[in-house]
Amino acid sequence: MEEADINKERLALALEAAGLDLWENDLVSGEVVCKVHKIFSELGYDEHEGAYCIDEIFKIIHPDDVSILKQAVEDHLSGKTATYRCEFRIRAKHGDWVWYANYGKVMDRDGKNPGRRFIGVTFNIDDRKRKEDELININRRLSEQNVLLEKMNFMLQSLATSDPLTGIANRRQIMDTGEVEVQRAIRLRHQLALLMVDIDLFKQINDTWGHPMGDQVICAVAEACVHSVRGSVDTVGRIGGEEFALILPEADIGTAKEMAERLRQTIAAQSIMLEDGAPLHFTVSIGFAALSPEHFSFKDLLINADKALYSAKASGRNCVQGVPAGAVD
Ligand code: GH3
Ligand code: MG
Ligand code: MG
Repeated sequence: MEEADINKERLALALEAAGLDLWENDLVSGEVVCKVHKIFSELGYDEHEGAYCIDEIFKIIHPDDVSILKQAVEDHLSGKTATYRCEFRIRAKHGDWVWYANYGKVMDRDGKNPGRRFIGVTFNIDDRKRKEDELININRRLSEQNVLLEKMNFMLQSLATSDPLTGIANRRQIMDTGEVEVQRAIRLRHQLALLMVDIDLFKQINDTWGHPMGDQVICAVAEACVHSVRGSVDTVGRIGGEEFALILPEADIGTAKEMAERLRQTIAAQSIMLEDGAPLHFTVSIGFAALSPEHFSFKDLLINADKALYSAKASGRNCVQGVPAGAVD
């Protein structure tokens, strides 16, 4: 047997074992020297069908891949790329798209000669592509689920830290923020004040106008508290049924008193409408306290503001009171 024939046999075996379909084009004559065979029978076409003709092949390549394929050929023929590589889909006879890859090279290319033989192989990469698609889908689903989880975490976080009726901070959040603010005030030697607001004779409001109307009053007071403070600095929370706390970083006892008095007046001046259209007025009593060198825990601040509030209630309600001297032992 001739050496060339032996080499042919060796090549045929290697191509078959690797699942490669060889092709060769003569770039000068435009002749297809060697045509692919395997892929078209694999796709269900027989020898006499149009798909075997090189001009017809673009008709069965996925429209999204045609320009990519043409560009890859052009880039290689013009010498832009050292090898021709491309991935594309071909339509099987029964209609499915199947992924293939081309790998080729213009041979005999040297400095002067542009090269004449364009040789390459085509092979099926459908499995790999499908797995890649599957992975992309899994990753997309995962990131969608992550977004959902983040949203749910955010919702859980706000459920855990806010009061459902008014939307402002709940007692737990006030206690946490209070501790943090006290530590910060001590570290930076800054002022810190606390207002404790309690709706006057609220039980009567509930008893006279009903619980839903009582809830509306609670919301109106919460809103007035929120509007009375500096948004990004202060914290407003509902710490009990009709009790609110306002944490005021950087505020001294004088500022706390002014803010308390302004808030009291604002609430006393407003009303909500009853079912018959008549206005329902309500008032609050406010106790205020500030951090002092003797009392420097948030608990002390709460105790002092609470004692001041008790004193405001005792002096007739609808008024503000500062911490009485020596309130905390
Ligand atoms: P004072 O001026 O001394 O504070 O009198 P008060 O009637 O406001 O005080 P008291 O503590 O006797 O009453 C508070 C009432 O608040 C009793 C309770 O039924 C009511 N309450 C607590 N939580 C809620 C709530 O979420 N909604 C409504 N509508 N009422 C509530
Ligand atoms: Mg109360
Ligand atoms: Mg009350």
